[in-house]
Parts: sequence; structure tokens; C-alpha cells
Amino acid sequence: MKIRNLKTDYLIAGAGFAGLVLAERLCAAGFHCIVVDKRSHTGGNSHDTYDAHGVLIHPYGPHYFRTDAPAILEYLSRFTDWLPCTYRVQSWTNGRYWSFPVNLKTFEQIVGHKASEAEFIKWLEQERIAIDTPQNSEEVILSQMGPTLYELFFKGYTRKQWKRDPKDLDVSVCGRIPIRTTYNDAYLKEKFQCLPKNGYHALFANLIESCGDKLQVILNTDYTEVKDTVERKHTFFTGPIDAYYGYCFGALPYRSLRFEQEHYKEEQLLERATISGKQGFWQPELQVNYPNDYEFTRIVELKHITGQNHTGSTIVREYPRDWQMGEDPYYPIPSDESKALYKRYKNLSEKDTDVTFLGRLGTYRYYNMDQVVTQALNTAETVTGKPL
Ligand SMILES: Cc1cc2nc3c(=O)[nH]c(=O)nc-3n(C[C@H](O)[C@H](O)[C@H](O)COP(=O)(O)OP(=O)(O)OC[C@H]3O[C@@H](n4cnc5c(N)ncnc54)[C@H](O)[C@@H]3O)c2cc1C
Repeated sequence: MKIRNLKTDYLIAGAGFAGLVLAERLCAAGFHCIVVDKRSHTGGNSHDTYDAHGVLIHPYGPHYFRTDAPAILEYLSRFTDWLPCTYRVQSWTNGRYWSFPVNLKTFEQIVGHKASEAEFIKWLEQERIAIDTPQNSEEVILSQMGPTLYELFFKGYTRKQWKRDPKDLDVSVCGRIPIRTTYNDAYLKEKFQCLPKNGYHALFANLIESCGDKLQVILNTDYTEVKDTVERKHTFFTGPIDAYYGYCFGALPYRSLRFEQEHYKEEQLLERATISGKQGFWQPELQVNYPNDYEFTRIVELKHITGQNHTGSTIVREYPRDWQMGEDPYYPIPSDESKALYKRYKNLSEKDTDVTFLGRLGTYRYYNMDQVVTQALNTAETVTGKPL
């Protein structure tokens, strides 16, 4: 579609959480906004959809909503009800499933008998390697839990995910995975863990509808197609900052992913029940990590948390891979070189009064969804002077 001579207050590139939350707040304050996205749907990477078999999937990787901020939950509750979830993960290695993240059950599986918390703590004390200030991801895990658990669950997974040795990665990459000496096997630690009851796509549709005619969302359209034809006060850009500036300092590095979906019918799942331990499911829990086998890092079976009433089930295998220019960027690479390159773009953007960058691509940072919502709300507050 050729876009000509539109006029608005704010032009926003990107219809993910960053762009749409910002737009909603600006519209609520009385402004008009146009949001453009080059994809054919709203929601950015948080988009969900039904596959050809009618099973709800997350095509850009599983999106487990969680937050410790009641204000964020309250804000989003204007557009959705919630489905409480416990996100559970297991790890497959040495030909069996293991309880994960590491907890007392994992220890019992290692030693092969029932054990007490005190025994596990003592074992950990013997295993841990004394490193006062860990300098990288290998050191952080060795100092927290020692070589046995590092080799079983972390080393291979991290290498596959990042194509780098854990020694060459920031402490932050592995440092946030919990270890617990109790039976608590919850994957995440945030207080509120839930999914939008009718899916992310419904949340975004409700958000857009609430803006009425103040908001126009134009899909299948790159920012470059409208940047010279939309008259506006200011631009907000939630796409990649290096793309905005024509990669003038070079491309920021990303790690990318390939997803492989496989659907199983009711009768096939009957055969799998001896492995999954659950009727109607392919695997025992929502997510199974594969640190040491195969080329994929994890398999996700979303039906475990969506509670969808479907006789079949769809699993998604996730293959990390190198990112090529023109593809969807996934994870910013957490290294000193990439941080230095981003800083050059950031310095450039600070002199540029026409545009503000936000979101995971605009600020080249891995953010969870609630953090991006917070960033968008803060940006809106700066513009409107009105909180939430
Ligand atoms: C594999 C994976 C799993 C994740 N899992 C979780 C999770 O479990 N929980 C969690 O809280 N977070 C998770 N996240 C993070 C979550 O995806 C982000 O927090 C969220 O998507 C950020 O929203 P955003 O709007 O900044 O970016 P995005 O969702 O990426 O949206 C940016 C949008 O901008 C558009 N765009 C880019 N360039 C242009 C352009 N030039 N013109 C027009 N449009 C453009 C893109 O098409 C895209 O739709 C995960 C991320 C990944 C990669």
C-alpha cells in the first residue's frame, strides 16, 4: 500500500509491547498516533496464534508473562483477564528427564536415593569452587554449584545457545538461573506468573480498540516507507537502532533462532503417555531443555499452560543459529564489543531530537515483556506528564 500525506501527532515504528503500550497512553492523553509494523500482525515477538491444527502457539518462542510489579499487571488488566500459570521445566540428559532448575529433587536423582536438604547443602559445599568475584558465566556456575551440575545442565546448553564458551560470556547470562536446596522446582521467581486468558493477540486487539479513532495501526509497512510522508511532531522507534541509522557503524550482533513445529494427534499422544506421564501431552512438562543432545536447545509444549481443550498437541523445537542481516533479530549478544558498538549508536541518538528509541531492539537489550511495558509507560509519562 502506498501511504501518502498522513498527519498525526506521533509516528511509532513497531507494534509490539513497546510501541502499542506507548501509543495507548498517548491516545489516552488526547494525542493521535500512527503505529506502523513491517510484519502482518500486531504484538511483535509476543504474538500468539493458532496453528493449522487449531493449537495455540507462540511462533517467536514461548512468552511466559511474569512480573513483580502490581502496577504493570493492573495496567495490562485493562485489556485482558489472566490465566494463572506455573511454568515448569525439565532437562533431558544422559537418557533421562531431570528436575530443573536444580533443586533437592535433582540432587536425589543424582545420588539415586531420597535425601535431606542438609545433605544437599553439604554436597554443594564440597562441589563449589571458591571464586570470590566470578568474571564470566562458567565461573558463576562453578562458584554456585560446582562442576557436576555445570557439566550436566549448563555448559552444553550455553554453548549451543550462544555458540560461545561460557568462559567468554558475561556473568549475567547464566547468573540468573536459580538453584534451590528445597523441592521448589518453579522455573521463575516472580510473584505474578500468568498468561493473557485469551492470548496475547486478544490483549493487543483490546488495547487497540480502546484507543478508538485516535490510533491508526498500519501493518505490512516498513518505517522507511512512511518516514517522509507522515507529518508528525515526533517519532518513536522500537525497531533496531542500527537499522534506523543505516548501519553506519556496522550491524549490532544478534543470536537468532529457528523454530520447528510438530503436531501430534490424539492416537500418537496415547503412545507417548508412557513417556510424558500425562494423557494428551507429548512431554512431561511445558519445557524440556536439551543441554547435551541434539542441535535444538529446548522443546516447548504450550498446551501445558494454556489449558487448551484439544485432543492433539503441538510441540516446538528451538534451534539457535547465527543471525544474518535482514532476518528477525532475537537475542542481543552480551559482550563488551557489542556494548561498545551500541554505545556509538546511543551517542548518535542522543543528539537526534526527532526520534526516541525504546523497546528491546531500540535499546539493544534483552528485556522481559513487563520491563518493556514499564519502559513504554515511562516514555509516555515523559511526553504527557501524566503517570500511568
Ligand atoms: C525467544 C524469546 C523468548 C522470550 N520469552 C520471553 C518470556 O518468556 N517472557 C518475557 O517476559 N519476555 C520474553 N521475551 C522477550 C519479549 O519478546 C520482549 O520483551 C518483547 O517482545 C519486547 O517488545 P518490543 O515491542 O520491544 O519488541 P518486539 O516485540 O520485537 O516488537 C518490535 C516490532 O517492531 C517491528 N519493526 C522493527 N523494525 C521495523 C521497521 N523498520 N518498520 C516497522 N516495524 C518494524 C517488528 O516487526 C516488531 O513487530 C522473549 C524473547 C525472545 C527472543
